[in-house]
Amino acid sequence: MNNAVDDVVIVGGGLAGTLTALELSRRCAEASITVLTASSLDVCASMMAQGGMAVPRVDRADDAEVHVADTIAAGNGHCDVDVVRSIIGDAPRLVHVLETGGVRFDRDVHGAPSYACEGGHQCARVLRASDATGAHVMQTLHAELRRQRNVRIREHCRCMSVRVRPNHVLLSCMNVHDGDHIMLTARSVVLAMGGSGQLYAHTSNPPTAMGDALRIAEELGLPLRDLEWMQFHPTAFATSTCSGTAPLITEAIRGAGAWLRNTAGERFMPRYDARAELATRDVVVAAMREEMEREATDRVWLDCRHLDRQHLVAHFPTFIENCRALGLDPTVDLIPVRPVAHYQCGGIAASIDGSTSLARISAIGECARTGMHGSNRLASNSLLEAGVMAMRCAERLAADIAHPTMIA
Ligand SMILES: Cc1cc2nc3c(=O)[nH]c(=O)nc-3n(C[C@H](O)[C@H](O)[C@H](O)COP(=O)(O)OP(=O)(O)OC[C@H]3O[C@@H](n4cnc5c(N)ncnc54)[C@H](O)[C@@H]3O)c2cc1C
Repeated sequence: MNNAVDDVVIVGGGLAGTLTALELSRRCAEASITVLTASSLDVCASMMAQGGMAVPRVDRADDAEVHVADTIAAGNGHCDVDVVRSIIGDAPRLVHVLETGGVRFDRDVHGAPSYACEGGHQCARVLRASDATGAHVMQTLHAELRRQRNVRIREHCRCMSVRVRPNHVLLSCMNVHDGDHIMLTARSVVLAMGGSGQLYAHTSNPPTAMGDALRIAEELGLPLRDLEWMQFHPTAFATSTCSGTAPLITEAIRGAGAWLRNTAGERFMPRYDARAELATRDVVVAAMREEMEREATDRVWLDCRHLDRQHLVAHFPTFIENCRALGLDPTVDLIPVRPVAHYQCGGIAASIDGSTSLARISAIGECARTGMHGSNRLASNSLLEAGVMAMRCAERLAADIAHPTMIA
């Protein structure tokens, strides 16, 4: 492998960056690829995803179109319909790629996919691996990544700026441990740097979601779109010790029947929306904020007391464990929750294959904006988008490597 000039440097080792590296490596065994991560490889939003990945159900022929309709409704009409249709259309291929790579989504007793229901979806269509989907997917993919002979992984290496030269790209990076400066050179760079939740006081995001991609893109003159549409997730634990990153409570708990109550004990969501607790996130968060303001408090309450204990223990072990750590039993206690900054719907303007207005720079995953999510992302659509973008970006980069004059 040529260490002086990489064919591709991928900034980010979440689902978007990791799957791009794996798919590119599979297609071009000779390509030299470097993956950079600002922290250790396992610190990323992809690892924290609990709910799962939304995909059209295999047992309903019309479900791809219903999934498209649900995505557009959640995005309040601001989605790019062709993008939505194209990404959802590629979901079966993504599932195949992930399963071929060793990912095992939950199945029912008959061996059929076991889908969960989340807010804004007209039916259960979220593939999951218990309530720790991201951890299972990423541990599987990261293990595979570490086996690739043509992929070099540089952890704790924070990219600070990117400069495009006529025949290559320079990356100026910092060793996070000792502050040392590291320069890297690549023929092509993929920004797969995740979101910007750490810019907010309360967030579900990991410490790596610093918004660096936005700064780097702005310096490069890449257009940024829809940054005003930051999505807040309705249910993170609201305990007095919570500041910075708060543990999230998966939406699938409300899909399984949990209710939201105000401090007076009223189940308030039916007053705001016919879908009640399964309305889209923007609607649930707005209702929560109104209740919190009226009651002059910083939280509302998640009520799981009417749910079956066995079901909770079997399907939501992460939730049960987080409750236990806070001295709470969800079958007895109300759980204090509040909205937190969760997902950056906007970002670097990019096509589904990650191409941007600069030939040597791609942007994929949460830091990119394709038009998939409109003003409000449908639950569990981001792993889907990140995965499809990664597959398509790898295909395009493989073609560029095979025909280098295309980006000369
Ligand atoms: C708690 C939580 C639960 C979620 N649950 C779901 C869910 O159930 N379903 C769903 O679809 N979505 C979910 N999401 C959203 C989803 O996880 C993310 O949108 C998606 O994983 C983003 O993937 P990514 O690869 O773009 O970014 P990430 O997975 O965040 O990876 C970003 C990478 O970029 C690196 N990086 C950042 N800045 C730099 C820098 N300057 N230099 C070098 N490296 C850098 C990081 O180290 C990291 O490796 C959840 C998010 C959170 C936070």
